[in-house]
Amino acid sequence: MLCLGIESTAHTFASSVIECSSIVNPVDGNRLTNQENLHARILSDSRSVFLPSEGSGIHPRLASRHHAEVSADILRESLNDAGHCIRDIDIIAYSAGPGLGPCLRVGAVVSRTLASFYNKPLVPVNHALGHVELGIMLTHASNPLVLLLSGGHTMILAFSENRWRVFGETLDLTIGQLLDQFGRANGLSSPCGDRIEQFARKSTGSYIRLPYVVKGNDVSYSGVLSAAKRLLDTRRGNSEFFADLCYSLQETAFAMISETIERAISFFGKKEVLVVGGVAANNRLKDMLHQACLRHSSELFVLPCKFAGDNGCQIAWTGIVDYLSGHNKVDVEKSFVHQSWRIDTVDVRWRRLT
Ligand code: AMP
Ligand code: MG
Repeated sequence: MLCLGIESTAHTFASSVIECSSIVNPVDGNRLTNQENLHARILSDSRSVFLPSEGSGIHPRLASRHHAEVSADILRESLNDAGHCIRDIDIIAYSAGPGLGPCLRVGAVVSRTLASFYNKPLVPVNHALGHVELGIMLTHASNPLVLLLSGGHTMILAFSENRWRVFGETLDLTIGQLLDQFGRANGLSSPCGDRIEQFARKSTGSYIRLPYVVKGNDVSYSGVLSAAKRLLDTRRGNSEFFADLCYSLQETAFAMISETIERAISFFGKKEVLVVGGVAANNRLKDMLHQACLRHSSELFVLPCKFAGDNGCQIAWTGIVDYLSGHNKVDVEKSFVHQSWRIDTVDVRWRRLT
């Protein structure tokens, strides 16, 4: 089976082809389609990222225009790299939310057009679920506690009774928004997480005190951002001070996450932690989470940096497992996008863990 996955929730327009084969049951000759018997191969992974001007964030209308302009080239590239034409594709999966409305609509229109013209099944995929499922597929974690840290999410998730349940989350800004908005305040262009990590590495390691706000299993970053921006205003243009602020911001924000994940590990007694989302590319974060996991004899699973952020593979793979579980496909006329589609409202029938 070949699935074309299309991602367009925010800054990235991406398309990927994944080939999936299933094992044949030697007794009755039927194919075994539960997840552990599936074998996936990523045949292509094409992306184009909308880059706002220096100091600006993602403007939904400008980002959607970018997506519309690059969509044909990205699609063509992903099919060429996979060595297939659109007629070979068995199912088309698209990112249906959560995300920015105008951006989501570009991916949905492209997917609907292909599905209706070439008469292919159309599978709507929850973007957050895509991060989680691709993480599990690539790392082979079996029953992890999941940390989803990205531009749109800051969540601790545990699987129970058919759904990923939210054990803790941010009460206001996501960790990606914290990093991006702080970087933009100093004239960087979004996404800034990677640049902030580079600046933090140049710091002498002198910690500047910032608010630390953990409430139960939840975190709050709005006060951290206001304080960091206020401090930045006191010594603008001083690059050493900026590096120390980047270092302090990372230390504070990641320590808050580490505290909540440690509490969740002890609560669930989980032996595996998986971190996914664009912020999972950060080396200091991985260090801190690794230490937290060590203290509880738990193993940290991190997917390759390249797949941490938004991509088409997460949509193609989740589309495959969802479709094979017999649960999901929509008629083109009934296909949808939901800007605020929460992961804990999605039934995950292909996973049987507690
Ligand atoms: P996503 O929404 O999953 O594509 O993730 C995008 C977010 O990841 C943005 O907020 C980026 O600033 C952030 N990000 C990307 N690379 C890094 C990094 N090395 N360290 C911290 N955050 C990062
Ligand atoms: Mg994402």
